[in-house]
Amino acid sequence: MATSAKKNVIIGAGLTGLSAAYHLKDNYNLYEKNSFPGGLASSEKVKGFIFDKAGHILHFQREYIKKLLDLIKDGSILNNHKRLSWVFSKNTYTRYPFQVNTYKLPPSVVKDCLVKMHQVQSDLRIKKPVDNLKDWILENFGEGIARHFMFPYNRKLWKVSLKSIGIDWVDKFIPKARFDFAVRGAISDFKKSFGYNKVFYYPKFGGIQAVSDAFFNKVRDKVYFGKRVVKIDLKRKTLVFSDAEKIKFRRIISTMPLPELIKVIKYVPPKIKAKINNLRYVSVFNLNLGIDRGNISDKHWIYFPEKKYIFYRVGFFSNFSKKVCPEKKSSLYAEVSYTANKPLKYSKPELKERIIKDLNKAGILKKNEKIVAEKSYNIKYAYPICNKNESLGAIDEFLKFYDLYSIGRYGSWRYMSMEECLAEGKIIADCINSF
Ligand SMILES: Cc1cc2nc3c(=O)[nH]c(=O)nc-3n(C[C@H](O)[C@H](O)[C@H](O)COP(=O)(O)OP(=O)(O)OC[C@H]3O[C@@H](n4cnc5c(N)ncnc54)[C@H](O)[C@@H]3O)c2cc1C
Repeated sequence: MATSAKKNVIIGAGLTGLSAAYHLKDNYNLYEKNSFPGGLASSEKVKGFIFDKAGHILHFQREYIKKLLDLIKDGSILNNHKRLSWVFSKNTYTRYPFQVNTYKLPPSVVKDCLVKMHQVQSDLRIKKPVDNLKDWILENFGEGIARHFMFPYNRKLWKVSLKSIGIDWVDKFIPKARFDFAVRGAISDFKKSFGYNKVFYYPKFGGIQAVSDAFFNKVRDKVYFGKRVVKIDLKRKTLVFSDAEKIKFRRIISTMPLPELIKVIKYVPPKIKAKINNLRYVSVFNLNLGIDRGNISDKHWIYFPEKKYIFYRVGFFSNFSKKVCPEKKSSLYAEVSYTANKPLKYSKPELKERIIKDLNKAGILKKNEKIVAEKSYNIKYAYPICNKNESLGAIDEFLKFYDLYSIGRYGSWRYMSMEECLAEGKIIADCINSF
């Protein structure tokens, strides 16, 4: 066993772990099972294309985090973009968000959306308290928007009953709609932007990996790769890696997925195990393609609510940065979600074939389009599902009692953006620095 003085240990070199490392004063080591930093926010070069694991764009609500990257790199590594995101349904492109943009959809659809929205937004109506995604959608947008976008899209992404999904995250991620805006967006091409990512940022070079690398380069002396944590004894304060090395720790900041963390901890009370068994998540199969044609789209990404398309979203890396794609070529990603209860029905080659067929059907790819690069990723823990009326407070308390802080999107089991992960890493580090 390592005999050096007990250190704080960070598990995981994703953005949360890297931010915690950057903000922690000395006396820590960071251990990562992979051989590279970034976790989900990482990129790979394939035949001249730089592919992210899935499209990753940055958006900021916190001035500190926005400035942090400039600070780290001594100059901006990011370009900003005015979001160009769209919804494709009924063979029509409508601007995102759908709730205020139904222009050019069939008149019966537009009417349905507006009339039903007016019904729920009428001042005379007594608002119902809601605790689940389905009711929240109906209460805010009405049955029309629900029927033509919100229900099919969210069912396609989440793969579980919308009644069972809690709403802690919705105000942050789903823009509400004013009826007068919905009317303007029904009768004209309404260009007003809404939502948390109406302006977004993306590295000028190197894909999203550039952000992770910027942090990694500041803390690299304390980062150890190929170190998978396989056992944690909270009482003895020891931790074992898959290579059998055993170390003592003072505190742990863990960013590994909560269900995996609980599996490696010795002696977990049954009531905590029961809570962990209730955690649900969505997995994502993401196919990245390099195409032998420039400018295949003028959009950043497109949402697909309809079942006839297997993907729920398609985006274009080459429109985030020209430097992630060779000249006169384009690159895109297509995301397909699944769960243990609703697994993918196809083998990997079949799935790829189906995605390409649906890209043809949507008019994004031409028939016999020349694909010159590809890379797919299966992301097991992609979206933690927020269970209705479920608090994870007891798990947090149990872990904190033993000086273990489980944070980040999968550690705290919340639908978090990269910015929020960077912020949480700092908050925990500041807290530990103050002890
Ligand atoms: C499809 C998809 C699209 C997304 N798009 C965006 C977007 O556009 N904008 C945005 O802001 N956010 C986006 N996100 C969210 C974003 O990826 C996350 O919020 C963020 O990257 C999570 O960082 P993290 O460090 O908490 O977790 P991770 O990136 O998962 O890092 C955890 C690290 O822990 C390591 N690890 C796990 N187990 C062990 C172990 N036993 N021992 C040692 N190490 C271990 C892992 O290898 C990993 O490196 C998206 C997520 C998905 C799934």
